[in-house]
Amino acid sequence: MDPRLNEAPCGYVSITHEGLIMDVNQTFLDKMGYARSDLVNQHVEAMMSTANKLIFHSYFYPFINLNGQVEELFIGLKNSSGQSIPYLLNGRRFDHEGVEVIDCILMQMGKRIDYEQELRSAKKQTEEAYREKEQAFAKLEHIHKEIEKKQAELIEMNALLVELSTTDKLTGLKNRRFFQEKLTELIDGYSRTRQPFSLLIVDIDHFKRINDTFGHQTGDDVLEKLASILKAHSRQDDIAARYGGEEFVIILPNTDGPESRRIAEHLRTIIADTAWQTGTVTASVGAATFTPEDSAATLLEKADRALYVSKETGRNRVTHAMDLPQG
Ligand code: GH3
Ligand code: MG
Ligand code: MG
Repeated sequence: MDPRLNEAPCGYVSITHEGLIMDVNQTFLDKMGYARSDLVNQHVEAMMSTANKLIFHSYFYPFINLNGQVEELFIGLKNSSGQSIPYLLNGRRFDHEGVEVIDCILMQMGKRIDYEQELRSAKKQTEEAYREKEQAFAKLEHIHKEIEKKQAELIEMNALLVELSTTDKLTGLKNRRFFQEKLTELIDGYSRTRQPFSLLIVDIDHFKRINDTFGHQTGDDVLEKLASILKAHSRQDDIAARYGGEEFVIILPNTDGPESRRIAEHLRTIIADTAWQTGTVTASVGAATFTPEDSAATLLEKADRALYVSKETGRNRVTHAMDLPQG
């Protein structure tokens, strides 16, 4: 054998058509731990397990017979200690002086298999990481949705709390706190808007008698009904609130003195004309219209003085502060 083929960096085995080993190079012998005499004239299948023999019969011979060659056949061959060594085999039929031989080149597959295994495990790890990422993402999305839901609930709850904190429990009208805030807002805005606005205090006449005669619960019913009358007959921008007890206030934006007196009179008539379960119920009204010299306190004081005059002059009537003598 050519010395370079003998030492070539791959195994070389030459077999007859029947599979008898005719020649083998030193590289292969060294790799497999055989002596030349162990293999020459032996059947190549002696180095194969049953499974590998099957592969050999199904691929090697059919390809050699059909194409004269076989490429990249993956096969395990037993070394001298019986261990199966994986090889990649290229074989080609060669006619030498009328005798047919099949030359086989054998590349040991150890490193390549290791690489493949590494690749496969890297791929598996990548897939695993990807799946974990997807799962984490789905979880995050779920948490995000939960947070959004909770946030919406909080906003709703907050709005409800604000509503509750500005609402009178019994009548559902705005409460005194809300009224004070709105009054301050209007006064603060007055220098900019120069919009006249007025204030009514509506106080039920002899309400104590209603309580005393019909009981506290009926008194409450009257308060509720009066509140609903005020609400139903006030304009969109008017702010009707319960000031306390049987006293109500209404802020009338964009309303001058005479207009506020007309509105108050209208409300007074409706209250007096309403059918009440307690017989007639009337209310007295005190009205005042804001002037640039006023504060919230002086405006309320004026309306209160006017209310007092309504009470003093017979109740069930409207008095506007502008009709009273100064001081
Ligand atoms: P006036 O015509 O002078 O206003 O007489 P009045 O009886 O209406 O006024 P007074 O201030 O003497 O009495 C008000 C009564 O309102 C006393 C109080 O017990 C009652 N009152 C206050 N708040 C409530 C309430 O929430 N429910 C009921 N049922 N009564 C209330
Ligand atoms: Mg009263
Ligand atoms: Mg009162």
